[in-house]
Amino acid sequence: YSYTTGTLMMNLKRSGLVDVDILAEQMDGLRHKQIEAGIFSFDTFTCNGSDALTTVATELGEASRECSVWSTNLYLGLNRHPKVIESVVDAVRHFGTGCGTSAVSGGMNILHRKIENKISEWLGKEATMLFPTGYTANMGTLAALCAKDDHIIIDDESHASIRDGIKLSSARKWISFAHNSVEDLKSKLELARENCRGKVVVVVESAYSMSGDICPLADIVKLKESFDFLLFVDEAHSFGIYGDGGRGLCYHEGVTDKVDFITSTFSKATASLGGFVAMSRRYSSYFQWSANAYAFQACFTPSDAAAVLASLEIIETNPEVISVLHQKKDYMRGRLKKSGFDLRNSETPIIPIYINDTKKLLNICFELYKRGIFSVPVSYPMVPENDGRIRFIVNARHTYEQIDDTVDTLAQLAKKYDLF
Ligand code: PMP
Repeated sequence: YSYTTGTLMMNLKRSGLVDVDILAEQMDGLRHKQIEAGIFSFDTFTCNGSDALTTVATELGEASRECSVWSTNLYLGLNRHPKVIESVVDAVRHFGTGCGTSAVSGGMNILHRKIENKISEWLGKEATMLFPTGYTANMGTLAALCAKDDHIIIDDESHASIRDGIKLSSARKWISFAHNSVEDLKSKLELARENCRGKVVVVVESAYSMSGDICPLADIVKLKESFDFLLFVDEAHSFGIYGDGGRGLCYHEGVTDKVDFITSTFSKATASLGGFVAMSRRYSSYFQWSANAYAFQACFTPSDAAAVLASLEIIETNPEVISVLHQKKDYMRGRLKKSGFDLRNSETPIIPIYINDTKKLLNICFELYKRGIFSVPVSYPMVPENDGRIRFIVNARHTYEQIDDTVDTLAQLAKKYDLF
């Protein structure tokens, strides 16, 4: 009910046909009615403790319940690592709280600089720029990079931060290619070669957040032998958990030198906040003054920076933190497949369970919650129509008991709701 209404509202807003004030009033009224009626709503959850097992409360006034939480991207569970917590506390004592201004006005301290150097060294890039979030890293650089006569080609499943960056830019031509289809990308590059008067920019994600699919990076890089384009890769869901020492999939595939911009976030594997873009010095010099999200926005805080540094050190020096995650992910995938679930092409710790009937999707989510298993439904317009899903995002702190319990419960619900 709330999801369908929310979707309708979102589309009406996008269409620009209905006044925002009218939509806001309608939404507020619906929300109240929903809470009064005791209707379960997924946007009212409060997860206390951001952990694999924590209490979750709803706005419905019922007591919070202990749940296995599957909706966060804290892949390595470093948010609870004693060394990370200790370094954050030390940083607050030493540097205080906020940083007060943007990087170009002196907002960065020695911890931020250490992160920049570390990422540049890890990825073999001349420069790394830090942004307050992964979202603004993508949005800010793409907005500055894409010019009027350029052709921008993005994957169909691209994240909102990529789309928003392009919309903010002066580029007039942007198109998408079929998700992960190198063939389709090639045909779009052929079209661009014939028509584009500026540069061509291709944007992909090394691993996709809604499907858990991995990008065919090596094949896409190979297209550079026949076509002239800049390649922009978002490693939000692979940095810290793939590649030697967690350096990501571009590194793993040995293509960092062929990728012009590697971006990622610090909010997932490294359990903090912030984003980065690694590139050549030429572009970083340009972005420092042309990416508004860099020049006109405060940096992430010293304690965020301390958490990133501590996490990077743990990842680099303890390869088992990554292998534990992959073992658990493989175990859960194996058990789900054995129970009959079609996981399509997902390979990463993001495991989607597809339920194309929205009513069933919501009911199953609610039933899971009642049994102490928490994740959120994803439906249109976040994913294509009739392609709803619940994502189970494995992290290193999930126990095998939690995995077993979740898979067993899902199998029971699949039977009850006649999923296959
Ligand atoms: N890129 C992708 C692919 C993402 O999934 C996300 C977060 N969901 C971001 C960028 C933005 O990262 P952050 O939430 O740290 O701003």
